[in-house]
Amino acid sequence: MKKVCRGNFDKADLEILLNPETKEERKLILQTAREIKEKYFSKKFFLYGFVNISTICKNNCSFCFYRKKNTKSIRYRKSKEEILKASKHLVREGVNLIDLTLGEDPYYDENFEELVDIVSSVSELDVPVMISPGVRDKSEIERLRDAGATWFALYQETHTSELYDRLRLNQSFKEREEARENAADVDMLVEDGILLGVGENKRDIANSILAMKNEPLAQVRCMPFVTHEGIPLQKQELAGDYALITALLRITNPRKLVPASLDIEGLKGIKGPIEAGANVITSIIPSNFNLAGVAQSEYGIENEERSPKNVRSFLRKRNLEHATTEELFNFCGSTEILF
Ligand code: SF4
Repeated sequence: MKKVCRGNFDKADLEILLNPETKEERKLILQTAREIKEKYFSKKFFLYGFVNISTICKNNCSFCFYRKKNTKSIRYRKSKEEILKASKHLVREGVNLIDLTLGEDPYYDENFEELVDIVSSVSELDVPVMISPGVRDKSEIERLRDAGATWFALYQETHTSELYDRLRLNQSFKEREEARENAADVDMLVEDGILLGVGENKRDIANSILAMKNEPLAQVRCMPFVTHEGIPLQKQELAGDYALITALLRITNPRKLVPASLDIEGLKGIKGPIEAGANVITSIIPSNFNLAGVAQSEYGIENEERSPKNVRSFLRKRNLEHATTEELFNFCGSTEILF
């Protein structure tokens, strides 16, 4: 563990930590991660509002509810007015960032300037904007940045190319990596992430943790896979649980942002990663806007479990704090972010 905390580690060291022999060993890893989080971010959490602007996608990722071939999936493409209305509501309710997510919707290939215009309007709301537009070329990424997007999110899911080919069918491993590099090159803050329970082993996870450590990222995450109706992939045994891998991401990325996602099991699902060094709560979705999640398309949305108010109350009950948007802007401008 000391080697990993010092940043001087290899895959074999990570594999050992992915396999704690006793409950005490696991507890120590989580506690170390929590202490690192508190050292750099105190008891504060950034809250991310999530607006899924299009569930239409040309791809067929084997793990995804919104894959093109899934006839059971919810499909919509929100108008700019609908997106702005939901975003304004989230900002009024105190979220620190708006995360605009979409499938690789062919409409926006043809009408890319409309996406740029949406980003431009949302970025006038005085919170950082994250965009997850799928693989885009460098000039398109620059257009999104110029429109006001601070963050570019694009998950590799795994950094083992053979497993990647089974998950992101007919999509280039390299182009996905390059899109993140291009975003970092044009000074956007970049997020990568991995999926758990999709056929990976401990070596694959160690490989991903090391790869993400070496990428120019500002936010790193892991997410357990959720089984969906109508898709080919079935949940497989986890090679490491959500909290443990979150802890290892925190330990190996002390100053970066590490999310806990409401998209898995709502508030219940974020308890583990919060105890393991996460400092962001993502996938806050308002009710009454007919918005869908990603891993969980409906869970916790219309009953307000994922509302900003409910998340703030969850933090208060645990003596945790909601960070200010100014603190997030300061973080986004910090030069220490990549270390
Ligand atoms: S993961 Fe993204 S790119 Fe893949 S099918 Fe789903 S929405 Fe499309």
